[in-house]
Amino acid sequence: MKIDIATLFPEYFDPLSLSLLGKAQTEGIVQCTTHNLREHALGVHKSVDDTPYGGGAGMVMMAEPIAHTIDPLIQENPTAILIIPTPSGEKFTQPIAEKLSRENHLIFLCGRYEGIDARIPEYYRNVAQIEVLELSLGDYVLAGGEVATLAMIEAITRLLPGVLGNPESLVEESHVLRDEDGQEALVEYPNYTKPPLWRGLEVPEILTSGNHGAIARWRLEQARVRARRLK
Ligand code: SAM
Repeated sequence: MKIDIATLFPEYFDPLSLSLLGKAQTEGIVQCTTHNLREHALGVHKSVDDTPYGGGAGMVMMAEPIAHTIDPLIQENPTAILIIPTPSGEKFTQPIAEKLSRENHLIFLCGRYEGIDARIPEYYRNVAQIEVLELSLGDYVLAGGEVATLAMIEAITRLLPGVLGNPESLVEESHVLRDEDGQEALVEYPNYTKPPLWRGLEVPEILTSGNHGAIARWRLEQARVRARRLK
């Protein structure tokens, strides 16, 4: 999978070289490239932002430096998906991460300040005819799109074949695990490891019983209880 990231702060993405994702890049499963929007800044002042039409606080990222950064990436691959993190977008969920993990090229565009000129998603969706997703990490406002992009990249790439040491880990985890009717997404049951007694707290007896059927039933019930608590 190829991932391009357009940002004013490429240093935010240094952690991509760590841990599972770093290994996935070394092994050629994922290729992440950052593109500094400031390199396409305009005029002698090298501006990337300007005041909002209609007035109001803050600055808005201008369309042209963004287009100069993104156009060559799209020319190279017109089937790439443009992802714009924004608190006003659709909530990023595990099913969206799963859908995106089946794509071969994602372009993330990180906003800053009051966000980006609204003609950017309009242009790439309607004129350039690229699939554009405006996605929110949650109902709160971050200072920029970089942290949201990092979170989305991690959620997407850990689903790629070969990234996790044990792909079985993907089957019984939160938001993937289903109830018996296959309908409702549950959150994962509680996990325990050695020692069996820690600071007076014991591991539930059933988990050391060796009765795999009973363990599976207990785990499913715990997953239901936890999911109900979140509603
Ligand atoms: N003025 C914008 C608003 O009220 O919707 C918020 C802009 S925010 C300070 C700057 C940038 O951070 C956004 O353009 C977006 O890229 C990113 N951002 C902030 N919160 C986010 C969230 N919940 N999910 C995804 N991206 C977010």
